[in-house]
Amino acid sequence: CGIIAIISREPVAGRLVDALKRLEYRGYDSAGVATLIDGELHRRRAEGKLRNLEARLAEQPLSGTIGIGHTRWATHGVPNETNAHPHATARLAIVHNGIIENFRELKAELEADGYRFASETDSEVVAALVTREMDRGADERSAVAASLRRLEGAYSLAFLFRGNADLLIGARRGSPLALGEGDGEMFLGSDAIALSPFTDAVRYLEDGDWIVVSHGGHEIFDAEDHPVERPLRRSTGKA
Ligand code: GLU
Repeated sequence: CGIIAIISREPVAGRLVDALKRLEYRGYDSAGVATLIDGELHRRRAEGKLRNLEARLAEQPLSGTIGIGHTRWATHGVPNETNAHPHATARLAIVHNGIIENFRELKAELEADGYRFASETDSEVVAALVTREMDRGADERSAVAASLRRLEGAYSLAFLFRGNADLLIGARRGSPLALGEGDGEMFLGSDAIALSPFTDAVRYLEDGDWIVVSHGGHEIFDAEDHPVERPLRRSTGKA
């Protein structure tokens, strides 16, 4: 299971899949990518090996210069295309590694509020939580911050927002996530191995951190939402 996110000025779909290949060693049962095209969210997902996702992308290519990708190792919901990540709402798409332990309670609460779910996954509650915060008027970062406070369990997360081609948000607790800094482009990934084709300049998030990423920079916040910085390391990608 692995996560990759890229914000660039060049097409990202091919590089998202390449990075997922470098995360194959972790094991997975399905995979998917999402990009923004003219501000709209587009997804391609497939059960099974990455070659199935590549075949899907060959049939229906995805343009877009910002996107997220995921290999899934199913914990809640069978491995099929509907349960594959990214999960999307009218406002955002997310990828998640880990387990949201209180997803049943959150799902019941969100369903009572009129939010509908397409998958059987625990992960989809994160997409719905952030969507509800935004429906109530929060901007992307405060919606994510408020939603993270509701989550119990382990996660690495990456968020892609409809209509915003200069924003990725990532978060981690109990599951790894790193920032890769390129030349006018930025990356989030489960580990330096995923990022190594793109950059060797890596910052590892600490447990409970979340991060706001744009083309030109990044802001990191700790579990108490205080701004923090994490050291820049030169990675060999061989860790
Ligand atoms: N718990 C999530 C799911 O079953 C994420 C699994 C993973 O870490 O890949 O979809």
